[in-house]
Amino acid sequence: MSGNDENPEIQAALAALKQSFAKKIPSKIEQIRHSWESLKAKPDDRDWLCLLHRQTHTLAGTAATYGFEGTGRLAGKIEILVQDALDEDHAGWMAESVDKIDALLVQLEALAQGAAEEKDRAMKVQQPGQATVSAKQNKLIYLVDDDVDVLNAIAMQIQTFAYDVMAFSNLALFSEAVERQTPAVVIMDVMFGEGPKAGIEHIARINLAREQPLQTIFITGSHDVLTRLDAVRANGLAYLPKPVLVEHLVETLDRLTQQVVEEPYRIVIVDDSADMSAYVSLTLQQAGMETREVNEPLKLLNVLAEFSPDLILMDIYMPDCNGLELSKVIRQMDAYVSTPIVFLSSEHDLRKQLGAMSLGGDEFLSKPIEPWHLVSVVTSRVRRGRMIRKLAETDGLTGLLNHSKSKQRLDIEVARARRENTSLSFAMLDIDHFKHVNDNYGHPAGDRVLKSIANMFKQRVRQYDSVGRYGGEEFVVIFPNTDASTAKLIMDKLRVNFNKISHFSEAGEFFCSFSCGISSFPDFDTGTALNDEADKALYESKEGGRNQVIVARGCQ
Ligand code: GH3
Ligand code: MG
Ligand code: MG
Repeated sequence: MSGNDENPEIQAALAALKQSFAKKIPSKIEQIRHSWESLKAKPDDRDWLCLLHRQTHTLAGTAATYGFEGTGRLAGKIEILVQDALDEDHAGWMAESVDKIDALLVQLEALAQGAAEEKDRAMKVQQPGQATVSAKQNKLIYLVDDDVDVLNAIAMQIQTFAYDVMAFSNLALFSEAVERQTPAVVIMDVMFGEGPKAGIEHIARINLAREQPLQTIFITGSHDVLTRLDAVRANGLAYLPKPVLVEHLVETLDRLTQQVVEEPYRIVIVDDSADMSAYVSLTLQQAGMETREVNEPLKLLNVLAEFSPDLILMDIYMPDCNGLELSKVIRQMDAYVSTPIVFLSSEHDLRKQLGAMSLGGDEFLSKPIEPWHLVSVVTSRVRRGRMIRKLAETDGLTGLLNHSKSKQRLDIEVARARRENTSLSFAMLDIDHFKHVNDNYGHPAGDRVLKSIANMFKQRVRQYDSVGRYGGEEFVVIFPNTDASTAKLIMDKLRVNFNKISHFSEAGEFFCSFSCGISSFPDFDTGTALNDEADKALYESKEGGRNQVIVARGCQ
């Protein structure tokens, strides 16, 4: 299924929302009429004035959004007139405005009679370029090299990172396989018996006959610039020198096969009008996002805590508390300092736009908002926001959660396990004799080992497990819903795998191991206790000879 399919269910829901809104228009205008007549009878009564303002403001924004443009425009004109009285309070206002508002209201009522005939604006949402792609990944890799030792070494190592590898020692066999099935990526040696650049020429020839070129990584012992150029011309996406560093190769494979699946964007919509928030919500859902609607602004904080959104869409004008004040409150809370806030309001709130920006709003959108515009603004804001958050929460070398984020995640998962009455395991591991690695093979080689262990964990643990770099060569893994003996099985497998990865350096090839301690909930029932017990068990593993996994005493 393509990501660009329109969702017929959501389209139908949008149409139903629009229909139900159309039915409500006459009664909304009746209410406006009632407020207006009451105000005329008591021109000094500010309550009627405020109510009238709110009613016309809401109708202006919502009607236009649902495609009732004439209704929206007339309500907006009345709102502007009423706004003058609110702002300036001058004595002559009523005398000046009464005829104008009367006339506008009559037009509005006339239009409501024929609302059904008002021109229907198509309510379709365009999908953003790549909102949330989660296509099933094809992880088949073809590896081609006439040096059988290289072939076997690389094949074995990338298999450890959960790729399916087919190895070919000659070009003809490879061609046949491509005819049968297209791999996600080809890893191709450059020099073969057929010629010094036979690998590149072969790929170029195959691509000529294909609609989509093969995604190819070239590996080579040659440092010649012209060969690189040829590789690029043959649509080579990466070019790695031999000996091939597995972690580079895996990083490149991950990038090309996009193994990182993005979670749907989470958006909170704050608007006192349920008609408006329902519309915005469906528009965003159609683009693959998750949404929560908040119609009573004061309930926003609860929703933030429970939903932890990527972005807040905020109406400005609301009865209990306006959107600007509410953003100020949010900005004062550490947890949400960096959550983007986008204001959605009517065009004539112009004066307030500046205020909105100075209070930490990120963008200002005017109602009525075109669906494609809304989706594209939200998408780009969320993408940037996620990038910034990721930088703050992850370790630069490995891309894993950093120390403080790991601890925070452990506390969150412990709370969840307690709530849901499930188990949880916490593993702490430390690379053995890492000082020797640095001393004997150099610091850069040490860094590559750290990256390779991080990559292996990212590939091998489940999506809801969390992996962090606690410091130097120490890592942690949080396994929700997993008892200690299962966690031990998993960690032992990873330990054996890690021990098989060969690392290259100028001083030669070498292997590494790690030691690990595991603790589990509910045997230990706080983040701190889990941390301390795993640390003790890790110490025992080191004392007991390293390259092993030990479960803390008292854990099942
Ligand atoms: P043990 O088996 O007892 O854990 O011995 P060890 O040598 O691994 O432990 P020790 O704590 O004595 O040494 C850790 C070394 O890790 C020292 C430090 O220079 C190195 N290290 C810490 N962070 C990094 C890093 O980011 N890159 C590299 N290359 N080395 C690092
Ligand atoms: Mg160590
Ligand atoms: Mg250490």
